[in-house]
Amino acid sequence: MPRVLIVGSANVDFTVALPRLPRPGETVSEGTLLVARGGKGANQAVAARRLGADVRLIACVGDDASGREVRGALAAEGIGVDGVVTTAAAATGTALIVVDVAGHNQIAVAPGANRALAPAAVDARAEDFTWAEVVVVSLEVPLGTARRALEHARRHGGVTILNPAPLPDRGVDFLALADYVTPNETEAARLSGLPVQDLAGASEAAAAIRALGAARVIVTLGAAGALAVGPDGRTHAPAPRVTAVDTTGAGDAFNGGFLYALLRGRPARECLRIGNFVGARSTLAPGGIGALPRRRDLR
Ligand code: ADP
Repeated sequence: MPRVLIVGSANVDFTVALPRLPRPGETVSEGTLLVARGGKGANQAVAARRLGADVRLIACVGDDASGREVRGALAAEGIGVDGVVTTAAAATGTALIVVDVAGHNQIAVAPGANRALAPAAVDARAEDFTWAEVVVVSLEVPLGTARRALEHARRHGGVTILNPAPLPDRGVDFLALADYVTPNETEAARLSGLPVQDLAGASEAAAAIRALGAARVIVTLGAAGALAVGPDGRTHAPAPRVTAVDTTGAGDAFNGGFLYALLRGRPARECLRIGNFVGARSTLAPGGIGALPRRRDLR
């Protein structure tokens, strides 16, 4: 089984499905509520785990009911949660999500305990980095912690994946620690300073991000699939056609599928295809992880 270490956020997500997104100052009523686990770290962990990977998570939750629920639910998925620490200083990270009938969303996040994931929490899990074949880091945790995790991974020879989301205003200055950087279109545009409106634009942006130090760049393109640019050229794989219900967490699902295929030694195009498959499937149900496929679903 591929051994995967995820360093990132764990949240509780409150999603309200509405006929349309509210404008500023407007109330749109008649929604339905879904309470679910989320956060990029937890979503990526669940995506990889459901495909059959052996997964450990390093994260931080609050000393509250949400934190206990999140931890318990991740453990019930079969994810190693010994690296999920608890802080008394902040509430478990919370996301308030509004999604419309077309699957578009608006998300407000109170990071809470995720911000308390200190570099020391990563240092304390040295054994996880020795164990892991791939380490995935996203940015809903402090930048210093993200950097430290990539440094540990590099030291122990694991493949490093940086999902640069959400991208902080000041950007990231440690792209060179990543074997793979996986921005979406918006993040690719901001990292590169170039517009990303089509495949050609994504390709130029990816090349610019490589020039900043990333070995390989995978730009996720929503319904248009994903583009990989690396030393061996570029590869585009279209996404399966789906009627998206909720695209929350699609990028996390993509990352889970992509890394799973990578660790199974699949060629680049196949890694993108499986990432797209998992990403597309995740859009079919509300919430970040509702519709994540299992290994038997892979086609
Ligand atoms: P993010 O969720 O981070 O903004 P994207 O919107 O690029 O990232 O979605 C990530 C991946 O999920 C895409 O590369 C694709 O594989 C899949 N995906 C997202 N939206 C759709 C869609 N409407 N149809 C098919 N696949 C989708």
